[in-house]
Amino acid sequence: MPNRKIPIAILGATGAVGQRMIQLLAGHPWFEIAALTGSDRTVGRPYGELVRWVLDDAPPADIARMIVQPSDTVQDVAIALSALPTEIAREIEPLWAARVAVCSNASTYRMALDVPLIIPEVNADHLSMIERQRAERGWQGCLITNPNCAAIGIVMALKPLHDAFGVKTVHVATLQAISGAGYPGVASLDILENIIPNIANGGEEAKIESEPRKLLGRLVDGRVDEAKIGISAQATRVPVIDGHTALLSVAFERKPSVEQAIAALESFQAPEQVRGLPSAPAQMIVVRREADRPQPRRDRDTGKGMSAVIGRVRECPVLDLRLVALSHNTIRGAAGGALLNAELLVSTGVVL
Ligand code: NAP
Repeated sequence: MPNRKIPIAILGATGAVGQRMIQLLAGHPWFEIAALTGSDRTVGRPYGELVRWVLDDAPPADIARMIVQPSDTVQDVAIALSALPTEIAREIEPLWAARVAVCSNASTYRMALDVPLIIPEVNADHLSMIERQRAERGWQGCLITNPNCAAIGIVMALKPLHDAFGVKTVHVATLQAISGAGYPGVASLDILENIIPNIANGGEEAKIESEPRKLLGRLVDGRVDEAKIGISAQATRVPVIDGHTALLSVAFERKPSVEQAIAALESFQAPEQVRGLPSAPAQMIVVRREADRPQPRRDRDTGKGMSAVIGRVRECPVLDLRLVALSHNTIRGAAGGALLNAELLVSTGVVL
């Protein structure tokens, strides 16, 4: 635990993910918000006057008084949590990473060879890539990323199964919440009473098919040797506010029984350095045995939105096993994921 509060900036603080970051940082034992950034639309004005707060309650009073800063001016902080749009992140995140540790939600650099894509419970060891990143880019800070909001729940479900039985092939269909599109996001006339079988013109499916291979890969000479898993994804947007559901069919190197798979999921333990982090849930995975769980409205807040809830583990007549995985897209899949990554940077001494 640090002996003084570590100053943090939130880049893109007015958006859906930026607001969650502010909410999760209220009363944080290690971090304090020292700067909020936005676009020309909001720079120079008090946060509370301009933000269209989409969460319950209201922003904390001290945060509401803060003046929004330009995103391209690096502030005197130790860590920046980035909730910038993909194209804006391309130029702005490296500016910050030259000086401070950046934990990004944006997809821009997730698959870059020298950028760690991290879920602390899954691949904390990939952080050692930072040494090479700093040497090659000449940065004093660093840039790490958290995964796509649908990919993360899928990888949390697959990690214990991959470790125990070797995942070979995955077919996955996702039912993704509307908050994943930010605010104002999807028009109500498009999504109410409806399901949209296309997110980001196929870009979402590409992320779900590529990011798990990097996350479940092994480090070799400071680069990730991706896991050789074939993934076929179909992503849909559904009229749910928060909580992405993934319907998975999985083939293994060594086929487990249903009970063996459940035992592997239930006994999964995060590495010790991760278990004590302030935002780490007691259990990364919670298995529900009822036939009709998980459900987004009932289960998304499990582990304060940081656990993946798995249910319906059963035989598959085509591949080996089927299961349903649910995770909170703006907490574990975005703001909470970035925050846990920031905590990992402190606990591993990358940020002093
Ligand atoms: P959003 O609601 O549209 O918010 C975008 C934020 O970026 C706002 O704070 C906005 O500031 C700022 N911004 C926009 N244009 C800018 C510019 N030219 N210069 C500087 N700042 C600018 O988006 P979001 O849903 O929060 O998503 C943020 C990032 O997280 C995206 O990269 C997204 O793909 C990723 N992500 C989102 C989710 C999710 O569940 N929503 C999950 C995982 C990852 P102003 O208000 O001042 O314009």
